Amino acid sequence: MKIVFATNNHNKLKEVQALMPPTIQIVSLTDIGCTEDIPETSSTIEGNAKQKAMYIKEHYGYDCFADDTGLEVTALDGAPGIYSARYAGEAKDANANMNKLLTELKEKENRHAQFKTVIALTLNGELNLFTGICSGNITEDKKGTGGFGYDPIFLPKGYTKTFAELSLSEKNKIGHRGKAVQQLIKHVIRSI
Ligand code: IMP
Repeated sequence: MKIVFATNNHNKLKEVQALMPPTIQIVSLTDIGCTEDIPETSSTIEGNAKQKAMYIKEHYGYDCFADDTGLEVTALDGAPGIYSARYAGEAKDANANMNKLLTELKEKENRHAQFKTVIALTLNGELNLFTGICSGNITEDKKGTGGFGYDPIFLPKGYTKTFAELSLSEKNKIGHRGKAVQQLIKHVIRSI
């Protein structure tokens, strides 16, 4: 079957594509002619994921799934959370976002954080949510060149390498997005 993945983020697409079985073919926003920015105005990760998936269903008529992700830092009361992309400003600059977070945590002993991904799926007239969480710590320096976003400063629990030092398949196995996608796949396969 074919299903639209409502993202313009090539890195998310690469990670999700690597997990999909041959029976599920991902269709991109470009493929359906969607070039506008999809609104993300909710105050929660769940709300933003739902909003993106519903937007495609309502405006283009396709069944679709959308991912919304936030990095929640315990010592910062869950920040940057839904503001993860714009933490250091509207430029959505990953390097600036990481620098700001490292500065905020300079005096903090507790460096615990978690990535939370919520995937919203519209399929056969139903809306379902799948959540994946990956717990870990924020490092003191950036390490690694793989991945994207905050990956160079996120050390998953039980590992000595940051997400940016792990391979895509290793990140997918233990990561927030991989966990949510596995639930999505099970659900879609049951519905085919
Ligand atoms: P969004 O889900 O596209 O809104 O992502 C919010 C922010 O979190 C962006 O700055 C992303 O770069 C970052 N982000 C999302 N997923 C990941 C990830 O898997 N690793 C590191 N950063 C991520």
